Amino acid sequence: MKTLAFGLPKLGERREFKVLLEDFWKGKIDEREFLLGMNHLRDWMANQYSQWVDLFPSGELSYYDFTLDMAITLGVIPKRFGDYAGIQTYFQMARGSQALEMTKYFNTNYHYLVPEIESKEFKVFKNIPLEEYEYYKARGYRALPKIVAPYTFLKLSKVLKKSELSELPLYQLSKIETQKDMEDYLNAVFPSYEKLLESLKHAELVLMEDPALCLDMESWEWDLVQEVYGCLSKHVDIWVLTYYDSVSDYKRFVELPVKGLGFDLVSNTENLENIRKEGFPQDKILIAGLINGRNVWKANLKEKLTILEELSKTGLELVVSNSCPLFHVPVSTQFEDGLPEGLPERLSFAKEKLQELKTLKLAFEGDKTALEEVESQQKLALQPFGVKEEVRRRVATLREEDFKREVPYSERIKLQQEILNLPTLPTTTIGSFPQTEEIRKARTAFNSGKMSAEDYEEFIKRQIEHVVKVQEEIGLDVLVHGEFERTDMVEFFAQKLEGVATTKHGWVLSYGSRVYRPPIIYGDVYRPEPMTVAEITYAQSLTDKPLKGMLTGPVTILNWSYYREDIPKHEIAYQIALALLEEVKDLEEAGIKVIQIDEPAFREGAPLKRRDWSSYFNWAIKAFRLCSRARPQTQIHTHMCYSEFNEVLEYIYQMDFDVISIEASRSKGEIISAFEHFSGWDKQIGIGVYDIHSPAIPTKEQIKEVLERCRKVLPLELLWVNPDCGLKTRKWEEVIPSLKNMVEAAKNLREEVVPAS
Ligand code: GLN
Ligand code: ZN
Repeated sequence: MKTLAFGLPKLGERREFKVLLEDFWKGKIDEREFLLGMNHLRDWMANQYSQWVDLFPSGELSYYDFTLDMAITLGVIPKRFGDYAGIQTYFQMARGSQALEMTKYFNTNYHYLVPEIESKEFKVFKNIPLEEYEYYKARGYRALPKIVAPYTFLKLSKVLKKSELSELPLYQLSKIETQKDMEDYLNAVFPSYEKLLESLKHAELVLMEDPALCLDMESWEWDLVQEVYGCLSKHVDIWVLTYYDSVSDYKRFVELPVKGLGFDLVSNTENLENIRKEGFPQDKILIAGLINGRNVWKANLKEKLTILEELSKTGLELVVSNSCPLFHVPVSTQFEDGLPEGLPERLSFAKEKLQELKTLKLAFEGDKTALEEVESQQKLALQPFGVKEEVRRRVATLREEDFKREVPYSERIKLQQEILNLPTLPTTTIGSFPQTEEIRKARTAFNSGKMSAEDYEEFIKRQIEHVVKVQEEIGLDVLVHGEFERTDMVEFFAQKLEGVATTKHGWVLSYGSRVYRPPIIYGDVYRPEPMTVAEITYAQSLTDKPLKGMLTGPVTILNWSYYREDIPKHEIAYQIALALLEEVKDLEEAGIKVIQIDEPAFREGAPLKRRDWSSYFNWAIKAFRLCSRARPQTQIHTHMCYSEFNEVLEYIYQMDFDVISIEASRSKGEIISAFEHFSGWDKQIGIGVYDIHSPAIPTKEQIKEVLERCRKVLPLELLWVNPDCGLKTRKWEEVIPSLKNMVEAAKNLREEVVPAS
């Protein structure tokens, strides 16, 4: 039996990747130094892999995003970027002023760049997979080229199509949806894939990542995929990797004319059940994804070993692997100290997972030490950890009415308006304001003990005073406190909640050079004391305008953290929701009239297949409703961004908030048009009127145009006016004029539609 690993975090042990990238962008190092540094990282990756596993890929050190690499490989470069001038164009596409759209990779928190296919002309434009393969080959590594398979590539891309809606620009980017389009684009792209594979024919085999085979698929799609693999297999041996879910059609998948088939055997039990029920072809290699690439726990190796023994009886050969890319977990546990007792010995990050693969293989072969390790890991896995009976009892005794607000929306909104007295088209922001160098410095000083708690508190108060004054001057209607005390919207709450640990070095790439440290939910979750009340009430004390309390929602806290696996996910969500509900009540008690509960990760937690959506959304909606069970007079807002909401509006509606703000600017009107098809939308809604991810200052006219577009599909009385996300990454010089223009645009429109009496 062989071991295969893939997706090792390219970040490096000390975030070298991030440093190199940012130094290069800042001009601190030149291209030569940059490439040299990247080669060191490449060497490091191969070195890690080869210490522990038999097989591993090349081509995993993309300078920004692997989907972008695939697009460039295939010559998918939109015209607006001009002639491809090497790395400059590469980064223009990734992060220039007209960068590609960015969105979440399947149901993960990794963001990829959406290839924009402007024509059906593809070619092998720059053979990145071959370059990467040869780099390793020259250094004596037997790496396997890994590329994004054609079907997944097209599913991740958008194509230019004539718009059907008159109010939108003539041409619009959209996903490939029809059979005809999928057929046309596959036919157009696969000759280039053939050339690519032909160029890689000296490799032992090629790994093709095809996670889109886990989405809902029609049988005509399987026909196409089958045909494509039939042609591609003529050039080189292919192993297909699927992950994040079970394959959508087991029988069709195992019939694919390829050598090896990879399964995620962790995300649910369906793949395994199908292998048992339907059998596995005798002439194919089974790649068993048994080590979880998305969670941080040591595996119960005993259990995995039993599965391996069973699987070894079928197929041509068995390969054991990780269930999905390892870049969803931090590099190594070896750098952590200060974690709660009992936690460190339970953790396994990427490097440790490579070791687990090796242990599994040795144990499978009967190695005594490995077998002992397997036994002791199982013992540990079975010990209860982090239990708090009181929390469990509260969740167990929840009743249906705990998930419902007392008064329906139509009446609540009237009560709220009596108190808030907001104008038509009320203006607000999403919560955070610029996190300046000064703030970061103060935080570092405080964290390292150089600044006292009192001084830090005073410092934050000064920031709050400033931001309240700025908002009043600009004339916003609902104010925020600016979130200066928070580094990260999830980590902040994780640090305040019991049962949740935060790490010091557990960095994970979110996109580009952006990293975050997902907290680890290891035990029952509860709130020992108020978390946000001090800052928010201080801000409210400075103004007569309503001040919006800011919380991160239970679904987002859960989806952006690693979570325990010994109790069901929905129970963890309810535990967090109960803690947040206490916070909501404290805020109300302290006189806060508007509370926003952010749920940017609400959509991404959904399983890949629609048939599994209702059970996920059922508890996700309930968790949100549980924590937002405020007084009818309290206006509950929520915020979502970076997702494809169109298909889940039905579920979003059921969350029963009073106001939602959503991102729209980057996905160019798609969301707005989704409301055309939603009959009976009656909740208030703020569609982001400008893109905060860009430093550009929107003009009044541009903002008005977005508002006009919204008005065509939604009644004016429901509309709010706000940027599309928090402002923390922007500069004050950008924020102030942008918000001024936004408020002006709202006022102008207000006067047009409701003439002053
Ligand atoms: N309230 C948060 C902020 O403004 C929301 C961030 C987000 O949606 N990702 O920063
Ligand atoms: Zn947002």
